[in-house]
Amino acid sequence: MEFEEGDRVRVSKSGVEYEGIVMPSTTGHIVIKMNSGYNAGITPQGATVTLLQKKEDIASSGKEAAKPEITARTGLPKVSILSTGGTIASKIDYRTGAVTSQFSADDILQAIPELTEIANFSGRAIYNILSENMKASYWQELSKAVVEEIHKGADGIIIAHGTDTMMYSAAALSFMIDTPVPIVFVGSQRSADRPSSDNAMNAICAAKVAVSDIAEVSVVMHNDSSDDICAIHRATRVRKMHTSRRDAFRSVNSEPIGYVDYATGEICTSLPYIRRNERILTLKSSLVPKCALVKFTPGASPDILGWFIDAGYKGIVIEGTGLGHVSTDWIPQIERATSHRIPVMITSQCLNGRVCDRVYDTGRDILKAGAIEGEDMLPEVGLVKMMWALGQTDDYGTALDMLKQDIRCEINKRSLE
Ligand code: GLU
Repeated sequence: MEFEEGDRVRVSKSGVEYEGIVMPSTTGHIVIKMNSGYNAGITPQGATVTLLQKKEDIASSGKEAAKPEITARTGLPKVSILSTGGTIASKIDYRTGAVTSQFSADDILQAIPELTEIANFSGRAIYNILSENMKASYWQELSKAVVEEIHKGADGIIIAHGTDTMMYSAAALSFMIDTPVPIVFVGSQRSADRPSSDNAMNAICAAKVAVSDIAEVSVVMHNDSSDDICAIHRATRVRKMHTSRRDAFRSVNSEPIGYVDYATGEICTSLPYIRRNERILTLKSSLVPKCALVKFTPGASPDILGWFIDAGYKGIVIEGTGLGHVSTDWIPQIERATSHRIPVMITSQCLNGRVCDRVYDTGRDILKAGAIEGEDMLPEVGLVKMMWALGQTDDYGTALDMLKQDIRCEINKRSLE
């Protein structure tokens, strides 16, 4: 039987039938994407393939299917969706199985029509990248786009983003923008073609937060393994803690700001938050990207730290052990950095809890060498804050003061148990 990629076929083998679209295969198997969204790989020996529809016919029947028209409704708030890529902004091409980021606000509204009950949306594709390709200059462009949308009258912003580095981008925007409206990051762990996709629920909950009173930068994602509640995480407290679970995002050293009930759309908050219009819109997007986050490991050579100093890095965050330690032989390199006016901040690879370098000798020596404590700040938030603080001032002492100060609830002076 002659068939090619993109054709719809039925494959029968050993009394079992599989129906779906033929996908690319490099293994010699017949791979088909079934209606459930899952792929099946079948060895061709002993299999019978029946051609059901040629790919050209599938494409033309798709074109005929009229898309429902999305019209603006009076009285609803305005929300701008800015897309940077990642799974949430992707569409699956069922003919080839490829994941593409053909984003437009209309695409999202066609796919999730419930959104039109919540707000009138407009959309801009800022990037079309997987978030591992994000970088500081992209955070700056994104922050400018957000501010433009707020100036144009957006009552809330949704940023569709890949989940891998969403917490870095969210923390960066949180430091860069004084916002009078909610700025909500949302992603999805499982693409829209999978029955367990978190795509629609996360987007609907994000929209509820975007029109709420919570005028902060937040990350809105599944709270648990069922489809009932999304958590509203503060941008400077959130971390991706699981590779694949839908509830991968967790607030660390803090509660989430609150929760969205998916069924009712109700928001309940558990922490105080900045309210709508409490802040005046300001953009402080200057960054110094040449900063490093260095993880200390037992026996690691102090040359590692020395390399960053010699390579001209402007700020260094160390992910130390326990209360915030490195081995004794790293301390002269810390001293060398600070004597060159390169700020060194100590955070902990424990993530939970607070750095305290006044308990053990090594810690005291680290402080004597001029390092500062990142308190209960996440290491990656420390890195983003370092880039931002160095972008705001050329003065070493002022930068250290900013790093020690709590600016966006990234430091809690009183620890949770
Ligand atoms: N790794 C990609 C990213 O972070 C895709 C996964 C996702 O969107 O969650 O953009």
